[in-house]
Amino acid sequence: MKDQNSTSATSLATQASADGDTDVSEHADFRLLRYFATASLTAFVVVALLLGYVFRTLSVDTLVNGYQTEHVNHARIIANEMWAGHFAPLIQSVADQPDAQLSVSPLLPTIHQKVLMLLAGTQIYKIKVYDLRGRTIYSTELAQIGEDNSQNAGVINGLRGLNSSELVHQNQISSFEGKQLDRAVIESYIPNYNPATGQVSGVFEIYRDATSVLAEVGRRQWLLVAAVVALLALLYLAVFLIVKNAQDHIIVQNQARQKAQWALALSEERWKFALEGAGDGVWDRNVQTGAVVYSRRYKEIHGFAADELENHTEAWNARVHCDDLARIEADRATYFAGDKPIYANERRMQCKDGSWKWILSRGMVVARDAQGQPLRMIGTHTDITERHQREEALRLASTVILTMDEATTVTNLHNEIISVNPAFTLITGYTPEDVIGKDPKLLSSGTHPVDFYQTMWRQLASTDSWHGEICNRRKSGQCYMAWLSIKQVRDVQGRPTHYVAVFSDISERKASEEHILHLAHFDMLTGLPNRTLFSDRLRQAIAKARRDKSGLALMFIDLDKFKPVNDELGHQVGDLLLKAVAQRLLDCVRRETDTVARIGGDEFVVILPDIEAVQTAKLVADKILAALARRFDIGAHPVHISSSIGIAFFPEQGSNENQLMKSADAAMYQAKQNGRNQVVAALLSH
Ligand code: GH3
Ligand code: MG
Repeated sequence: MKDQNSTSATSLATQASADGDTDVSEHADFRLLRYFATASLTAFVVVALLLGYVFRTLSVDTLVNGYQTEHVNHARIIANEMWAGHFAPLIQSVADQPDAQLSVSPLLPTIHQKVLMLLAGTQIYKIKVYDLRGRTIYSTELAQIGEDNSQNAGVINGLRGLNSSELVHQNQISSFEGKQLDRAVIESYIPNYNPATGQVSGVFEIYRDATSVLAEVGRRQWLLVAAVVALLALLYLAVFLIVKNAQDHIIVQNQARQKAQWALALSEERWKFALEGAGDGVWDRNVQTGAVVYSRRYKEIHGFAADELENHTEAWNARVHCDDLARIEADRATYFAGDKPIYANERRMQCKDGSWKWILSRGMVVARDAQGQPLRMIGTHTDITERHQREEALRLASTVILTMDEATTVTNLHNEIISVNPAFTLITGYTPEDVIGKDPKLLSSGTHPVDFYQTMWRQLASTDSWHGEICNRRKSGQCYMAWLSIKQVRDVQGRPTHYVAVFSDISERKASEEHILHLAHFDMLTGLPNRTLFSDRLRQAIAKARRDKSGLALMFIDLDKFKPVNDELGHQVGDLLLKAVAQRLLDCVRRETDTVARIGGDEFVVILPDIEAVQTAKLVADKILAALARRFDIGAHPVHISSSIGIAFFPEQGSNENQLMKSADAAMYQAKQNGRNQVVAALLSH
């Protein structure tokens, strides 16, 4: 596999695209021809030299042998011509002569003459004849007659019946004669047989000038060498052409193979580059050896530099969470068995810093052996930690939605409900089937004016949210108060996609709130406003009277001798009496405008707004006095009681609440003092 990092992938891709398809470097090829040319030339030269030498030797020897044979034949012809008539008699005549007498034989002149005649016009320039003792009995060089040549190898051979011949170059030593010759010669020793006895009768030696022979030999030598060289050159040329043709073939094949490799490498680099660009790490695993090549991004995902951690499966298996290992093995086995089209699984892996990441590993077998066993797998690692966290968060959110007490509805932009939670059904009584696809309008009670909803939609459009109280209606028809919060959901481009509404039933809370409010402002026993609410109403009444420049009367009523009722009839009867008193007081006033309040044990107050004349107030007070003086029937007990009433007027007896109260209280006190069961109007002005 090529280098795994994206930088190299980029550079490779760039280089490849820049070079194009034509860039298949010839320098990478093995130059067969160059090696062949050098080696074969050396071999051919050596062979040529050897062959030349051998041929030359052989051809020269053949030539020399030919010349020697021819020479021997010449010698034999001359011997035949001369032996019987001349040399045999000469040998016989000098057989008993001492060496010194040999040159004076009377036969010699005739022989010499005949020899010279025979030799005339031939290449033979000298002949010699030896007797059985090796003595020179004749030589064309007459001075040599009588020389003892019994030790001459040629003579010895001849006497033994053997032909001897040798070619001696100029200035070389003759092996037969043991002396240097002054010209190139072929010398031959031929035994001569006695036809009668068959015994060697003497040796005939013949010298032939070999200058022309040697010239011929030299010429033929060079001719042969030239022929050998030419032949080998032709052979070399033929082989050269064959090898060149083969090399061209190899180059073309290499180029095609390299092109294919480049294309393959390029496509491999391209998809790796694409995967790396997409943020995925790439792994390339030899299934049988466990060797793996990881891309730079792969290691980066796990927090390692490109040169860190070894490229072996074991090193990475060690980083897989132990709880996930068995599942991974099972996934791989299933994939190898052909039960899955692609190998894929999710697992936790530990990063260099010890943290864990969720990794999606996907892969495919890209090469198998002849038995179909996987050889090589290529795949990717994708960091899906964030996705896992999002899914976890979604799971949590969905659990929250399912279990929360608040109802939720999700609507689309067409205002159709697309989901609700169980709390929705609990609060509204509608099941999901009742409302999915419907307009949330079906929840409304119809008690809100149209502009309530218009305001809600306007606010939603401008701030993406609305919250407030709303009165809705349950499936049963019952109305309920809800605290509703609506949010507009937008997509990543900021376009609105959904509305999420969350609401809770606040009917009970509202009721208890109202109850508390009531307790704070009303007397529990009589249901009349208490001191707090009374003060408030008095303040408002004074303010209004001041604005309207009108009058106002305040009545302070205290029951006379109430304590003995309690003491004699019991507290409960006392309470019932107080309630009955309250009712009678209410019956004496205009409920729409006047206020009756209980401010203490048996103390009541009445505010009469818009009172212009003191008399009017007194009339009311007398009416009250009379009403309370009437017999009360509390259960089985007839009860008689009276009251003392003090009246104060605004603004005459007090310009504010406190002054007015003090004046009324003082008037009431006066009534008590005066003997009770009477009305006293405060006349003193402040
Ligand atoms: P007086 O004529 O001077 O007003 O004498 P009285 O007996 O009415 O005595 P006073 O007005 O001073 O006291 C009021 C009594 O009312 C005192 C208390 O025992 C009684 N009382 C106060 N609050 C309650 C109540 O809520 N229920 C009952 N049953 N009695 C109350
Ligand atoms: Mg009293």
